[in-house]
Amino acid sequence: MLPPDPPSLDPEDWDDFRAQSHRMLDDMLDYAQGIRQRPVWQAAPETARAAFARPLPQAPGQLADAHAVFIEQVLPYAVGNVHPGFMGWVHGGGTPVGMLAEMLAAGLNANVGGRNQMPVEVERQIGRWMRELFGFPESSSGVFVTGTSMANLMGVLVARTQTLGVAARQQGLAGAPLVAYTSAGAHGCIAQAMDLSGLGTASLRRIAVNASQQIDVAALAQAIARDRAAGLRPFFIAGTAGTVDTGAIDDLSALADLAAREKLWFHVDGAYGALGMLAPAIAPLLAGIERADSIAFDFHKWGQVPYDAGYLLVRDGAQHMAAFAAPAAYLRREVRGLAGGSPWPCDFGPDLSRGFRALKTWFTLQVHGAERLGAAIDHTCALARYLEQQVEATPELELMAPVTLNIVCFRHRGRPHGDSDAFNGEIVADLHESGIAAPSSTTIDGHLAIRAAIVNHRTRAADIDALVAGVLRFGAARLNGTPYE
Ligand SMILES: *Cc1c(COP(=O)(O)O)cnc(C)c1O
Repeated sequence: MLPPDPPSLDPEDWDDFRAQSHRMLDDMLDYAQGIRQRPVWQAAPETARAAFARPLPQAPGQLADAHAVFIEQVLPYAVGNVHPGFMGWVHGGGTPVGMLAEMLAAGLNANVGGRNQMPVEVERQIGRWMRELFGFPESSSGVFVTGTSMANLMGVLVARTQTLGVAARQQGLAGAPLVAYTSAGAHGCIAQAMDLSGLGTASLRRIAVNASQQIDVAALAQAIARDRAAGLRPFFIAGTAGTVDTGAIDDLSALADLAAREKLWFHVDGAYGALGMLAPAIAPLLAGIERADSIAFDFHKWGQVPYDAGYLLVRDGAQHMAAFAAPAAYLRREVRGLAGGSPWPCDFGPDLSRGFRALKTWFTLQVHGAERLGAAIDHTCALARYLEQQVEATPELELMAPVTLNIVCFRHRGRPHGDSDAFNGEIVADLHESGIAAPSSTTIDGHLAIRAAIVNHRTRAADIDALVAGVLRFGAARLNGTPYE
């Protein structure tokens, strides 16, 4: 007996669906076009949360109804990183071009783990472009991952396998006392990579930083010597190109020299800063990155590609593959047909099924071009310098860290002998709740700082002025003890 056809998951009425999809697309384009008219952020009310605390729907619902819930209960209550006033943490702004490309990728429903298909070739194109951008050799390899947290973990794993040999993949560390190094200003995911890889966070040395928040290379050399003298096995240095707190760039050339001398793996966490290579004024600050053994970075930060799009670039593709490829599967690959075209992206990381992150990245680079993306990056740094000037010209404000790139850490002086940390923390929360601007806060030398990380290509000088005005207004209101507005 023939099984009857199931109810379809494709549209019942394509014309009706098409009309609805045009409305949905229009809504998102309206959102991007009108973003300045919205608050940067607002807290989601209980009604919005309640819309997502319902039992599993059994019967089919209408697309238009689902879309209405999205428009009313989700869209107004996102983090706000599309908005030009968003300066909290290091989040990219995304672009309408990237949004459309993401829709095309979902339409293809490409699984880019491998096989003989053009989407894999698109990903290889990004690899060749990144090789060109970073001055890496032909033999290098790259792979898309969720983000730099994953790419840093993979960097540690490639270095471990290179140091101990592929046998480490069966035997684990087998007691090898591997030690890694990074700066006190490094992102927490470097320690997490040591944790997840089984090396342990106790085997990570967090080296002190100098006045410019860069790793102290002399102290690093001493730590390596101390560990060697104690019978340990140094293997990995993670430099940072753009620290998340202040935007500091380690002296990558000095780290490359030291790593070469000590025969250690030289990895660069360039999560947001590495794509500064696209910006003529910033690229020279990254000198030495071309000598890295591996670079982890995100297209979803300064690259403005919609989330998520992290990347790991490895100088020696053979070493990269040796850390992840399953030889049994890899050697059995076909040379003909759909199962040809090896090696595949799945040979360069832990993911088998994986989405088509390369397409939104390709569209972004293809449509906007390296020059325009580089100019957007340069502009965020120009705005940071402008904010630095505003802070220095305003008696109530003080700068908390040098401005290297696009991050400005400052604070309101508040009352003499007052609790400046709590005061500035309140100002940051006031700003968030006002919807005017969304900086974050961080701790610099033990003091709370208001931190403006300017990453979004939409941010303009007027948004910086609004931030400064907001800090002064909320600061004054709190000092006077008067409610504002
Ligand atoms: C953002 C960031 C990370 C983490 O990257 P994700 O893409 O969020 O995983 C790591 N290091 C630095 C310096 C960062 O700025």
